[in-house]
Amino acid sequence: MAKANLPEITHSISIDVEPPVAYLALTEPDAGTDLSAIRLRATKDGDHYVVNGTKTWISNGIEGNCLAVLARTDPKADPPRKGLSMFIMEKGPGFTASRKLEKIGYKGIDSAELVFDNFRVPAANLVGGEGKGFYCAVGGLELGRINVAARGAGIAKAALDYSVQYAQTRKTFGKPIAQHQAIQLKLGEMATRVEAARLLIEQAARAYDAGQRCDMEAGMAKYFASEAGLENALEAMRIHGAYGYSKEYPIERLVRDAPLMCIGEGTNEMQRIIIARQLIERNPV
Ligand SMILES: Cc1cc2nc3c(=O)[nH]c(=O)nc-3n(C[C@H](O)[C@H](O)[C@H](O)COP(=O)(O)OP(=O)(O)OC[C@H]3O[C@@H](n4cnc5c(N)ncnc54)[C@H](O)[C@@H]3O)c2cc1C
Repeated sequence: MAKANLPEITHSISIDVEPPVAYLALTEPDAGTDLSAIRLRATKDGDHYVVNGTKTWISNGIEGNCLAVLARTDPKADPPRKGLSMFIMEKGPGFTASRKLEKIGYKGIDSAELVFDNFRVPAANLVGGEGKGFYCAVGGLELGRINVAARGAGIAKAALDYSVQYAQTRKTFGKPIAQHQAIQLKLGEMATRVEAARLLIEQAARAYDAGQRCDMEAGMAKYFASEAGLENALEAMRIHGAYGYSKEYPIERLVRDAPLMCIGEGTNEMQRIIIARQLIERNPV
């Protein structure tokens, strides 16, 4: 199955910042899963577009300096997604990171609200032509989902590794807890989740590398591996008892980081819907 046609980038866009720290701004206060609700407005003015509105939950919004932004160029487009366009922007007058968002995990990277107030971006920074932005954004999601799946699998594996070690050293009732069947059942399930997640990720990555359409495979990998990360993190917390709940041990961080993998790059509710739609499309009666 061939990959869906993506808008072609027909010119090079020059970026002056050094080194570029790139990020992607799709989400708005009233538009997350439903990108067709995006309101950030880009209005043509000579050889520039004037941008007004707000983006939120943008990773690297404070530290980053070069971003791809999905904006509305045609408010009357029907369907609304056809009125969206993608721009490459650099920070400058009229474009500020207005607020750092506090969150329970993933603290190594900032999340910010961005405000655009008559920000001028050169028309040459439009990617793929007016009205092609939705397809640019969605076209990048297969790779993004494989990436998030791998991060979920990493959390699942770390939770397993810590648990296998801890279960052999922590003793109750005269023996290591690894010798209690209840703990063995947990370890067996955790290890199986890790391997299954890896195989799904490998399958999706192979299809992606071969240039095949892989939204179903990427969706399955993202859904399964991120849930595996969350389930294994919680099981590791149980295996570690009170120490799993302690800030002095690494498990609490896994529990705080894992849920993001179920939300980012398309929530897991949406992944299951995408999988089902593809199943039906690939198996017509
Ligand atoms: C730490 C962090 C970093 C992020 N980084 C970025 C970033 O760099 N760039 C960026 O653009 N965004 C980023 N996001 C935003 C993220 O992509 C969105 O949170 C995500 O797309 C979900 O949107 P939402 O939060 O508005 O939820 P909503 O879209 O409001 O969804 C709420 C709930 O309804 C469900 N739902 C919605 N529609 C349907 C439907 N049709 N059928 C069934 N269920 C449905 C969802 O699955 C979810 O459970 C980040 C978020 C976080 C928390």
